[in-house]
Amino acid sequence: MVLADPSSPPGAPAAPAGRSDAWSAADGAALYGLDRWGEPYFGVGARGQVIVQPRGDRGGSLDLVELVRELQGRDLTLPLLIRFDDILEDRLERLHGAFERAIAQYGYNGRYQGVFPVKCNQQRHVVEQLVESGRRWHFGLEAGSKAELLIALSLLDDPDALLICNGYKDRRYIETAILARRLGRQPVVVIEQADEVERIIAASSALGGAPFIGIRAKLSARSTGRWGSSVGERAKFGLSIPDVLTTVERLREAGLLDDLRLLHFHIGSQINDIAVLKDALQEAGQIYAELTRLGAPMGFLDVGGGLGIDYDGSRTATAASTNYSLQNYANDVVATIRECCEPHDIRPPTLVSESGRALASHFSVLVFDVLGAGGHSETVPPPAEGEALILRNLRDTHALITAIAAGDLEVDAAGERAVVERLQEAWNDALKFKEDALTAFRLGYLSLPERATAERLTWASCQAIARQLEGLPAGTVIPQELQALPAALAGTYYGNLSVFRSAPDTWAIDQLFPVLPIHRLDERPTRLGSFADLTCDSDGKIARFIDRGQVKPLLELHGLRPGEPYWIGLFLGGAYQEVMGNLHNLFGSTNAVHIRLAAGGGYRVDHVVRGNTNAEVLEAMEHDPDLLLERLRLASEQAIGRGDLAISDARRLMAHLKASLEQTTYLEA
Ligand SMILES: *Cc1c(COP(=O)(O)O)cnc(C)c1O
Repeated sequence: MVLADPSSPPGAPAAPAGRSDAWSAADGAALYGLDRWGEPYFGVGARGQVIVQPRGDRGGSLDLVELVRELQGRDLTLPLLIRFDDILEDRLERLHGAFERAIAQYGYNGRYQGVFPVKCNQQRHVVEQLVESGRRWHFGLEAGSKAELLIALSLLDDPDALLICNGYKDRRYIETAILARRLGRQPVVVIEQADEVERIIAASSALGGAPFIGIRAKLSARSTGRWGSSVGERAKFGLSIPDVLTTVERLREAGLLDDLRLLHFHIGSQINDIAVLKDALQEAGQIYAELTRLGAPMGFLDVGGGLGIDYDGSRTATAASTNYSLQNYANDVVATIRECCEPHDIRPPTLVSESGRALASHFSVLVFDVLGAGGHSETVPPPAEGEALILRNLRDTHALITAIAAGDLEVDAAGERAVVERLQEAWNDALKFKEDALTAFRLGYLSLPERATAERLTWASCQAIARQLEGLPAGTVIPQELQALPAALAGTYYGNLSVFRSAPDTWAIDQLFPVLPIHRLDERPTRLGSFADLTCDSDGKIARFIDRGQVKPLLELHGLRPGEPYWIGLFLGGAYQEVMGNLHNLFGSTNAVHIRLAAGGGYRVDHVVRGNTNAEVLEAMEHDPDLLLERLRLASEQAIGRGDLAISDARRLMAHLKASLEQTTYLEA
């Protein structure tokens, strides 16, 4: 679906569909899967630009290209992380809406009350926004470390919201949680390791009060995918069933069983297959029922994280997708737990989920610019006087291929097939002549410029064939060797970003994110390419792209136009990427902004978070920027003294050094 341009008045005629023939913005949206994974937040406008609908289908939209242009006007240089806080809020609404519908549909006699796992995105403005937007549902937070606990304790001021305390805990962590209960907070200390119960008992008796207590169970249910090892006997966290029973007895002896309120499990992130979740829910439901029977008051069942994202829009159980929707997920949680409770006559627990990825992925978009593209030139070098025979042969071959393209050859009844055969033949010739040229060069019969001409002619032939193949009717049988030519022509697009900083999971765990140009979608992309980043690391690249349940190594891209930017968006990266990103090659955080739709149309820039400066990343490595400058100042004084450096050049050098320290670590446009 092509969305209306936010800038055009209602009723205005849409822009003409597509600049190049038989290709429209809708084709672009389909090619990059925007209409599958982007729904309902991202779509394409008639002019081929990405349109953002931050409130989903509830109205209001922004032209992403316009937005980037206007942010650049505010000196917010690329790469730029744009956070749409309305999307974050919309995700919260959808999550709660899905559980509310499921609870109504299955007549579940309990509630849903979620928490946000802070580790997913600890940025202050993000956590504050979630707490603020989540207030009406008493939405809480989950912390996995002391620092995250500090964030959660200070930001979560709603006495009815849950503060789930996971992760390893020492005595201070536990005492903090007990005392925070007296501030009116609701911390639930989840026992993840068998020995934690002793620390809880000791801290409680010392302080004369206990925290709310939860138990994390190790489930035996099978799991799959990247985080499959989060369950089973050897999982890092959780209590085995014998340990659960021992813990219950210890709590009973210590008089703390009345504080045991919650059962928790977490079977890993990005659950691809809903069947895995169903097994886990059944098992956890039975354990919950047993705990009630053992005399614990309980009341909460926390199903952990794992609610997945359909990164490629294929709706399959493959790594970059899920075979279920948010509503399917909520239905399964509610229905399965209801089934476990009913026969035992147990009061249905308040259902808690710790959905991080599902809440935080959509709201942030990383936009980076392309600095240039490597690849093979299409230009055919002009013939030189008395050109070597090998080169003339290559030239003739190229001319022949172009002639086929111009339709000069007669096409018989089996026309397409004849054309394909001629192309194959010409390509075989070109390869043979190129080999001859290389041999001649090795033996000293061809000069370096002549070899360059041979290579250029070969690539030009390759390109001519690729173009010719594009023009053939769909369904024409094309030999594999010719099919592979467009990939051989693929170029490297140099992106102004560090993959290690902005999309570390693409490198660390082969995560796929939708990546696409944010403009020119109404133009047929004529090239194939992948991205290389700024780091001096050959792993610093994006060379795996979504492809409906599969992965493709090359992305359809446009040729660069001189003097015109080519902007690429990396979508669905709001979860985990920022904090996992590192300082490889000392590329720091990028500029970031928080955008909100404004009441009367347009938008507001709520927060600007400037990216790290070079001085900041140097300091992170214990360097002192002033000292570095001072050393260079001394070195230039010496060079001036030797007469190697003019005073005016010394001044220019120092000015560049100072300016660099104050700027972000990325390239200036
Ligand atoms: C990481 C984590 C989560 C969040 O998982 P998502 O898949 O992002 O929803 C929730 N709970 C625990 C215990 C975790 O470790």
